[in-house]
Amino acid sequence: MALRTILVEGNPTLNKVSRPVVKFDDRLHVLLDDMVETLRDANGVGLAAPQVGILRRVVIVDTGEEILELINPQIVEQSGEQVGLEGCLSVPGKYGIVTRPNVVKVRAQDREGLWYEAEGEGLIARAFCHELEHLDGHLYTEKAERFLTQEELEAMYQEDEEEE
Ligand SMILES: [Zn+2]
Repeated sequence: MALRTILVEGNPTLNKVSRPVVKFDDRLHVLLDDMVETLRDANGVGLAAPQVGILRRVVIVDTGEEILELINPQIVEQSGEQVGLEGCLSVPGKYGIVTRPNVVKVRAQDREGLWYEAEGEGLIARAFCHELEHLDGHLYTEKAERFLTQEELEAMYQEDEEEE
C-alpha cells in the first residue's frame, strides 16, 4: 500500500466527471487500498478517486465502524434535512455550512463488482453526498451557504484541543 497525493482546489482534475469502473481487477484493489491508507493518514471521513488524480467512480467512506468501498455509487433514497459544517481534504483549512439530506441510501458495487446498499445518517449521509459529488467534478464550496471566519475557525480548533 502507498499514500497517494491529495489534489487541492484549483487542480482541474477535481472539476472533471469520472468514468464508471468496468474492471474489478488488481489495479482497482490497489487503488482502494491506497485510498484507505491515504484517508487514514489525513484523518478524513471520506475520499473520492478524483481527489487522488484517478477519474474513476470510486469512493470510500469511514463510518467509524468500517470503511465502505463504493464503486459506481448512486443515491437511491434520501430524506430529511441537516444544516451543518463541512470540510474537504482537497480544500484544506476551510469549513463551510452546507444543507444536506439527513438520511441517504446509496447503491454501489464492492471491490469484486457485487451490488449492495448502504444507508447513512447524519455525518455519514453528508459524506455520501459530498463524496459522490466529487465524481461529477463538484466541490462542496459551490453549495456552501457561508464559510467559517478566521475567529470561528480558531474557536473550533480550540474546542478540539480541549476535548483531547
Ligand atoms: Zn471532498
